[in-house]
Amino acid sequence: MLRSCTEAGERALSDTARTIGELGERALLRHLRARIPAGEGVVVGVGDDAAAITTGPLTLVTTDVLVEGTHFKLEWAPPRLLGRKALSISISDVAAMGGIPRQAVVSLCLRPEITLEFVDALYDGLLERAAEAGLSIVGGNLASTTGPIVVDVTLLGHGDHLLRRKGALPGDRIAVTGMLGAAATGLRLLAEGARLDADGALMATGLWTESSRRPIERCLRAQLDPAPPWILARSLAEQHLVHAAIDLSDGFSGDLLTVCEDSEVAALIDPAALPIDPHAASLTRARGGDALGLALHGGEDYQLLFAVAPEALASVRELASMWEIPLADVGEFVAGKPGVAQRSSDGVRPLKPRSHDHFLTTLGMGMTPQP
Ligand SMILES: [Mg+2]
Repeated sequence: MLRSCTEAGERALSDTARTIGELGERALLRHLRARIPAGEGVVVGVGDDAAAITTGPLTLVTTDVLVEGTHFKLEWAPPRLLGRKALSISISDVAAMGGIPRQAVVSLCLRPEITLEFVDALYDGLLERAAEAGLSIVGGNLASTTGPIVVDVTLLGHGDHLLRRKGALPGDRIAVTGMLGAAATGLRLLAEGARLDADGALMATGLWTESSRRPIERCLRAQLDPAPPWILARSLAEQHLVHAAIDLSDGFSGDLLTVCEDSEVAALIDPAALPIDPHAASLTRARGGDALGLALHGGEDYQLLFAVAPEALASVRELASMWEIPLADVGEFVAGKPGVAQRSSDGVRPLKPRSHDHFLTTLGMGMTPQP
């Protein structure tokens, strides 16, 4: 199936500064095919008219796309990290269903002046992330465009113990993994000139002084290289420990409202219990901003939110600590019209979700609420 490059192709491919327009589609395809290993469950991988894979009793299917100018800017995102993120955001969706990511199909729309070096770095990230998550890239497409670069990933997963957005019951606790607000802070830092290099190390602090290096690096990584805790979701699903789940992609408040709507319950949260990322909090405080607002509405955290029966919370905590994943109990689901409310010093007041809307907002605006 995998054919070796022709001698001419090999000569052409030795110069990674060449553009893919000079190289041509066939040579680029041969080059990429040779780089992509076939993994478990793959009968026919990259290189034929279609891939052939074996699947489990239930196959999860999800698709997501990163569009230049909408989801990333070339000057902000090293291509290796872009490749990692393109897979991670779909891994997060499979995780939210309690599944195991297995095979991905990757389609790229590229301008002819893009270099082979760029495509190789993008694939470095895709292949690395695929290996980490134990999944195989089994196919895809290359298309030429004069418009924005598009990285389109369809991910298949196995799922036999599904988690859904519906299923939260009145009395369930609202549990959240990881820390919130770092990715949204990272987006703002990128707009201010802070940068990571291809290895994820801090390259420029932008408007900030060197003394802020550590929190800046942490927030940029959260934005450019998210790490969804997919393995925890799988374990929780297998042990039937949660009633409902969603991944936090558009913002905690909006994603929580989605669970409320699908489960036909209301949510009451305790803002003091929200796991605000400490690095995001310190940077936001330094500029006089509202770290709680970022954690509530910021988006792109790629953490998970679970509805957990109170009596199961200790077991969920135990599993999370086994995987070294922070888990916070931030409130409860209650009977009532779907909506989100928060406890405050003067009682309970409604919380208006302000999450990212793909059709109302543009890069740098929609995902970072104003303080
Ligand atoms: Mg999702």
